[in-house]
Amino acid sequence: PAKAGAAPAAALGSAPIITATSVKVNVSIPEAAARAAATGADGVGLLRIEHLILGLNKTPGWFIANHKEEDFVKELYDGIKIVLDAFPGKTVWVRTLDAPTDEFRNMQGGESEPHEHNPMLGWRGIRRDLQSFDQFRLQVEAFKRLWKAGYENLGVMFPMVSHPDQFIRAKEMMAGWGVDVENVTLGIMIEIPASAIMIEDFLQAGIKFASFGTNDLIQYTIAIDRNNENVADMYNPQHPAVLALIHAAIQKCREYNVECSICGQAGSDPKMAVWLVEHGITSISANIDAIAKIREAVAKTEKRIILEAARNRDAQ
Ligand code: PEP
Ligand code: MG
Repeated sequence: PAKAGAAPAAALGSAPIITATSVKVNVSIPEAAARAAATGADGVGLLRIEHLILGLNKTPGWFIANHKEEDFVKELYDGIKIVLDAFPGKTVWVRTLDAPTDEFRNMQGGESEPHEHNPMLGWRGIRRDLQSFDQFRLQVEAFKRLWKAGYENLGVMFPMVSHPDQFIRAKEMMAGWGVDVENVTLGIMIEIPASAIMIEDFLQAGIKFASFGTNDLIQYTIAIDRNNENVADMYNPQHPAVLALIHAAIQKCREYNVECSICGQAGSDPKMAVWLVEHGITSISANIDAIAKIREAVAKTEKRIILEAARNRDAQ
């Protein structure tokens, strides 16, 4: 269930707009946290943490092989804490590491990264964490310390999940490392069609939220490489098959009263925001620069829906 939110008047240049659908912000680096918070966003719908590690020019494996595990944990802890501090009382969904192997290749430790023909379909996201226990354990250690320090607003989001067993296994591993998994907020990204199709199984497995990663969901649904300019004109966020997957998953989440959000680039497009609100999404997480226009599109759409409902009721 989304909390109503208000953007500060200063950020919008006029009176604050209240929306029932939460409007959240995507954050890629802690340095952007203050600017993100100044938008008045209702929380962080995606905090990418791979940049914290990529910025050090070392692979996760390097830290483990060189007994620098504490440095890895501290880097994550400090970076995530900056964002949590900028959003007191608002939820911040931190996504576990999701860098494809080719992005690690030229770093210290990169020689141990596997060579993959198609890294976007390869060893990344939850797949890597479930095999590379140490890498996952160190991320969880940073989260644990933050929860222990009282940051209850921290939620953890797993990328690239394609089967509920992956979520269940991740939860079991976290429990094994001392996390009270039933009382922390764990959710998934829906960015592989399989997870949209199987959303009910994920809901039954206990996800506390789901968020559409449309950048990937589009490429995997319509088989268009998101980084290939030869087919860029076919990369269509509003492809009926993509919208059908999103629509069905939103409805299931509503049935289970679980927050359903979007953190892919499509959520920063006001036209898409209108469609998402019409289809019942609970929150939209957009880029910093898009917050004001998304909030406005959401507010107008909600108002129109309410007016239409009232007029239909009166006409009966
Ligand atoms: C997405 O796939 O929509 C997403 C937000 O993740 P990324 O762009 O980092 O793959
Ligand atoms: Mg993605």
